[in-house]
Amino acid sequence: MAKANSTSLFNKLGQQAKLAGARLADKHINLAVTGLSKSGKTAFITSLMNQLLEANENAQLPFFSSHREGRIIGVKRSAQMDVTTSRFAYDDAIEGLSAHPPRWPQSTTGISQVRLLIRYKKKRGIAKWLSEDGCLTLDITDYPGEWLLDLPLLEMDFATWCEHCAKELRESQRATLSTEVRAQIDSLDLNGSGDESQLQKIAESYAAYLKQSQLAGFQLLQPGRFLLPGELAGAPVLHFFPVSQSQLNMQNVDLTKLKKGSNIALLVERFEQYKQHVIRPFYQQHFKRFDRQIILVDCLGALNRGYHSYHDLQKALNWLMGSFAYGSSNILKRLFKPKIDKLIFAASKADHITPDQQSNLVKLLDSMLRDARKQLLFDGVVTESTLIAALKASKHGTTQVNGESVAVVQGLTEDGRSLTLFPGEVPIQCPQPSFWQKQKFEFPHFAAPQLKAGDALPHIRMDQVIDFMLADKLQ
Ligand code: GDP
Repeated sequence: MAKANSTSLFNKLGQQAKLAGARLADKHINLAVTGLSKSGKTAFITSLMNQLLEANENAQLPFFSSHREGRIIGVKRSAQMDVTTSRFAYDDAIEGLSAHPPRWPQSTTGISQVRLLIRYKKKRGIAKWLSEDGCLTLDITDYPGEWLLDLPLLEMDFATWCEHCAKELRESQRATLSTEVRAQIDSLDLNGSGDESQLQKIAESYAAYLKQSQLAGFQLLQPGRFLLPGELAGAPVLHFFPVSQSQLNMQNVDLTKLKKGSNIALLVERFEQYKQHVIRPFYQQHFKRFDRQIILVDCLGALNRGYHSYHDLQKALNWLMGSFAYGSSNILKRLFKPKIDKLIFAASKADHITPDQQSNLVKLLDSMLRDARKQLLFDGVVTESTLIAALKASKHGTTQVNGESVAVVQGLTEDGRSLTLFPGEVPIQCPQPSFWQKQKFEFPHFAAPQLKAGDALPHIRMDQVIDFMLADKLQ
């Protein structure tokens, strides 16, 4: 009898220990994915989810250690944490990639989320004995990198912001692109009584000028929501724009003594409201929750577009990384307690180059990030640079040229023609502007890869990224 009691007590204790262990083992990662427009965020999240959901024996994930060790039991989708944020459109993306011909998923226009539950076998240590398997909750958030370009605005007043914009406008191409909107701004009577519809019209022209600059290859463009307003499209909080110092002088405007109800008072008010109601809430409601971050960089696209685009992308990345340099940023410390412990930079769309050029592409990315990364090392964030093709749309092969074997890339154009090309060498740092005068880079646009039922999406190095982001939580 005594023996039976002690056995059931032992079992009970064992069960309690297992329960406690299971709770301990329930882990959580808030992974954020960003990058400037068309850097490949949607493609990345689609591929990431697909690789994990299909992490079965067919999966091509040799560098994802938990998968290689056979410890991933299953992955499923679950209701997302924040019900006020849009759901990442995974099903639409998969439907498009499975169509004939396949379609690229719709690019990111705002913030969206998705939650995955990853059930896995424990690897070692006491946790293994306390419960049989663990569950990692993975929340993935997609948001436009343009929104991070707004952080420095929080420490600017309207006058300082106008000065900053004036500097950007000194660049000759941007000066040309902004001719029309500058004329509209110059004709505005700043002291005249606040005219909301006129301000809206000019703000829309300003947003159109930013979009044209983006199409022309410029990347350091803000306010970020003017390019990707998300749910704020048409809202008055976006109806402002910078004015020039000469206009302020000519119209005798003193920004420290604003005429109540005037156009200029309204512009200053909107600028402050944008900081208060748009920039701050993004950091406080979303950014502060992220533990891990991936930043996608389309280095090849910038090389295609020319020196001005490459140079502007580098400047934009430096601005963008201000959001991760906690040590030097009082504003970030005031806004939230930063948690991000791992940051990965990935040069995207690496299926455009031959495998022998991959190490050059990572070096190019590193050279682009050199200055900004020093600060991150100082802050103790673990960073990693790599390259990926989230949705590999080409094949690698060789062809004979004058009796020599040359590496080539083969894919389909959007209109279904087959294309074989030798994309050439990827430079390990930004070439001089004169380089583009002599020759051009050619990393063309490929048609989307075809997803066949039961297969996982083809990729390059997604498994390494997954391992870097998740492996420590799957032990
Ligand atoms: P987002 O704006 O950052 O969400 O960018 P997307 O993920 O929509 O990608 C923009 C475009 O880049 C896509 O429509 C594709 O044409 C291309 N793209 C993205 N990822 C890849 C990739 O891995 N390989 C190739 N070849 N093209 C890609």
